[in-house]
Amino acid sequence: MPYNRLGTAGLQVSQFSFGSWVTFGRQVDTGIAKEQLQLAAEAGVNFFDNAEVYALGRSEEIMGEAIRELGWKRHEYVISTKLFWGINGDMVNMKNTLNRKYLMQAIDGSLERLGLDFVDLVYAHRPDPNTPIEETVYAFSDMIEQGKALYWGTSEWSADEIRAAWEIADKRNLRKPVMEQPQYNLLHRDRVENEYARLYNDIGLGLTTWSPLASGVLTGKYLDGVPEGSRGSTAAHKEILGDARKFEPQIRELLKMAEKLEVSPAQLALAWVAANPHVSTVILGASSVAQLDENLGALVALERLTPELKAELDALFA
Ligand code: NDP
Repeated sequence: MPYNRLGTAGLQVSQFSFGSWVTFGRQVDTGIAKEQLQLAAEAGVNFFDNAEVYALGRSEEIMGEAIRELGWKRHEYVISTKLFWGINGDMVNMKNTLNRKYLMQAIDGSLERLGLDFVDLVYAHRPDPNTPIEETVYAFSDMIEQGKALYWGTSEWSADEIRAAWEIADKRNLRKPVMEQPQYNLLHRDRVENEYARLYNDIGLGLTTWSPLASGVLTGKYLDGVPEGSRGSTAAHKEILGDARKFEPQIRELLKMAEKLEVSPAQLALAWVAANPHVSTVILGASSVAQLDENLGALVALERLTPELKAELDALFA
């Protein structure tokens, strides 16, 4: 497993990491989570992604339980959480916000559910136009000063918002955001490839990218119907079927290219994300142990993905 620096931070994260959105607490219980974490760790994965809002806190509890039952030592893994939506219902100040009160209480809740003294990475899960960026930067910086997190970053912030946060931190001698967590896959490329283009050199932004398979669409599993129990079969994620229909010709081509390379379509699509040098780690998602096993095989696809083949995929999904 290759490891990359997280932007300008000294921290190294595995080329492929593993996250728990939709799955932990809904499709995956602590037993399966343990098997998945073990499999990932054996493959060299050192980063595990989570968020307060995943299964309304249950995902953090399951990851914490699984890690304790596996007996992992704290120095053996990097773990994250993300804060923004809140899990206290409609309570004013505690939902859809990055205000100081919410952030300082939310990190304590996440640490309690994970059963940890600190997370390695904490993210502002979305931007909050109703809180001054300066207030948010102070809160994350203070979290780090208090030892509750080691690094902080953003998720789905605009390039301007990320730069504003970085500049405030620089000017005030606070902890700077070091990473962003954007969606990045063959179907969603603009932000990573264009909008953020200047940030890689200017502020050394690292990327931990999400939904590398566009929620499973790039496996080709939705080309001939909607498999029972799949993410696309649930009301909450119906929109992914639109992607499957819209990009059907390209996905069929992807299937053919994968067959020629003797890898699965999922492995080829994952390798394409990992081949972008700005991506520090590709966060994998899997609702079963078998899916994760297949997806970790993307390392083989990465070796077979020549610059020519990558360019072919770039053009196919331009
Ligand atoms: P993917 O795009 O890879 O989708 C994963 C889902 O696709 C699986 O749960 C499974 O769904 C299906 N799948 C995966 N592999 C296979 C396979 N080999 N064969 C068939 N089906 C497969 O990633 P996610 O959308 O799950 O995102 C990955 C991680 O990124 C999340 O866990 C989370 O940590 C992070 N994330 C962050 C966000 C943010 O806002 N910062 C937003 C979303 C995710 P099923 O079996 O149910 O069909």
